[in-house]
Parts: sequence; C-alpha cells; structure tokens
Amino acid sequence: MSRKSIQLDEQVYRYLLSVSLREAEILKECREETAKHPMARMQIAPEQGQFISFLITLLHVKKALEIGVYTGYSSLAIALALPDDGHLDACDIDPEITTIAKRYWSKANVAEKISLHIAPAIKTLDRLIEDKQNETYDFAFIDAHKPEYIDYYERVLQLIRPGGLIMVDNVLWSGNPADETIQDEDTVAIRLLNEHLHADDRIMLSMLPVADGITLAFKH
Ligand code: SAM
Ligand code: CA
Repeated sequence: MSRKSIQLDEQVYRYLLSVSLREAEILKECREETAKHPMARMQIAPEQGQFISFLITLLHVKKALEIGVYTGYSSLAIALALPDDGHLDACDIDPEITTIAKRYWSKANVAEKISLHIAPAIKTLDRLIEDKQNETYDFAFIDAHKPEYIDYYERVLQLIRPGGLIMVDNVLWSGNPADETIQDEDTVAIRLLNEHLHADDRIMLSMLPVADGITLAFKH
C-alpha cells in the first residue's frame, strides 16, 4: 500500500480523463476558447470542474460564492450543477475577461443564476457581510489574487453557513510552498494560508493533490 498519492505523468493523466471525464459541451467550448489566451493556465482543470459539480450536487448547494471568475469555467461548473432556484455570487476585478464568462453563462442558460460583482473581492465580501449575508452560503470557491487568500478566507468563513464547504485552489502552487528557498509573494502567501488553515479549529480540513492542490474546509 502506498502512503502517498500517485504521480500523474501525462499517460496516467490522459487515462484518468479518458475513464472519468464527462465534460458538458459548453464547458469544453469554454476550455478550448480559453486555451488561446495568454493566461490560459489560470483556468481550473476539467476533472476539478467535474469535482466541483459533484460536490455542489452531493451537498445540495443552493447558494454559492466564487472569488476569481476569469473566463468562467469554474462558475459554469458551479452554476450548471445548482438547482433552478440556486444562486452564485461571482467576484472578479476584471470587467473585460469576464465578458467571456458572461457569454458562456448566457449560452448555458445559467446567467439568471449568477450575479457578477466587478470590484476588488475584499470589498465585495465586506459588502456582503454588511448586507447581513453571514452564514447564508453553502459553498465557496476561492481562486483569485494569492496574496489576499487569508483575507478572502476570513471573510468567506463568516459568509459560509455552519456545515458549508470552502474550496481553496492552488494550495500546492506547483510544489513551491514546500521549498523554503522560494520566497516570492504568491508562494509565501499560500504557505501562510496553508499554515493558517491547518491550525484553524473552526473548520475540518482536507488537502487533496488534485490539479494544483485544493483544500476543502468544512465549517463546524
Ligand atoms: N476560477 C477561474 C477559472 O476556473 O477559470 C480562474 C480564476 S483566475 C486564477 C483569477 C481571477 O482572479 C482573474 O480573473 C483575476 O481577474 C481575478 N482577480 C485578481 N485579483 C482580484 C481581486 N483583488 N479581486 C477579485 N478578483 C481578482
Ligand atoms: Ca486556480
């Protein structure tokens, strides 16, 4: 029995996708269009999108929050899995790149389920807290500016209901947080966030080596 996760070389990764990925046509379209963009690597992996949809369905999520929309892949994965009366508050700072996301939301007939908040995410989260949205969200996905991860997390933890789930993306950041000689701003921020969550007894947590690493935090 192995005590650590299997290494996914290209062949094994292709195999994993070939026997498990069920990607909706609209998600595939979004992924293929995004692949032409210079920052395409910011998009989540397709099996991660499927895992998000799986969790949304499993947990009967009705009210969701996303921080970091980009061209819309993860928001589509969330919105497509939400029930008809479900809602997603999606935060991003970039009005231009998110026009692509909005186009896909319309095409997928989920635009009505999504409110896009164009502003620094911290401001949007503070406003939601001011608007007494505390403990009303069932699910949140954090995937925006890495140096602000702890600031997002602390606000999201107020907004999520007890029993709700937070998914944080890129917690393994290509492995860099494990190498103490790497001290760039993003790596240091992710290292601090990981330590912060590990010590946080307000949550149950599980870090998974899916894609670039995700942490699932379940609020007690
Ligand atoms: N989840 C997306 C997907 O699946 O394609 C990828 C998100 S991408 C890694 C990060 C996004 O965060 C970018 O679209 C960027 O504009 C946004 N962002 C950066 N700084 C931000 C901030 N301070 N507030 C809100 N969004 C921000
Ligand atoms: Ca990401």
